[in-house]
Amino acid sequence: MLEFLYPKEYLPSVFCITADKLKKLGINTLIFDIDNTLVPYWIKVPTAELEKYFTALRENGITVSVLSNSREQRSKVFCAGLDIPYVYRAGKPGISGMKRLLEKLGKTPRECAIAGDQIFTDVWAGNRSGVYSFLIKQVDPKDELITAPKRPLERLIVRLYCKKYGKEVL
Ligand SMILES: [Mg+2]
Repeated sequence: MLEFLYPKEYLPSVFCITADKLKKLGINTLIFDIDNTLVPYWIKVPTAELEKYFTALRENGITVSVLSNSREQRSKVFCAGLDIPYVYRAGKPGISGMKRLLEKLGKTPRECAIAGDQIFTDVWAGNRSGVYSFLIKQVDPKDELITAPKRPLERLIVRLYCKKYGKEVL
């Protein structure tokens, strides 16, 4: 019944998503949420480890992009210098932002995956658009005010998902 909210995979970190893994799934484009997926919400730029990771993905033929619900400045500053295409104020779980990004990239949903820390935004938007969904354990326990109230219900859904598929809650 809740399948539409379940991720295709649930992982402890984005670093578990390698170019090899994506290629085996027939995916050539990875779409990232920023806040609490890549960095805590108060960190404005990618870490050196993330920069290395993006480079490794790209060197192996994976297109890297960002789909964020935050205002323009957040994506603009984060992606600056890395030449990462982004769409801001994406309105996830609505799919119009996703459509805009796919158009910008010239990609179809089937060749894309989204990695995000929230079920009600990232995973749902991915599932609704036919984009492969990775739920990532949030990088920091601290959430923005707008996100915090959604977490208890998200955690319940994660527990149900894990029970159904015999996975460990991260
Ligand atoms: Mg997030």
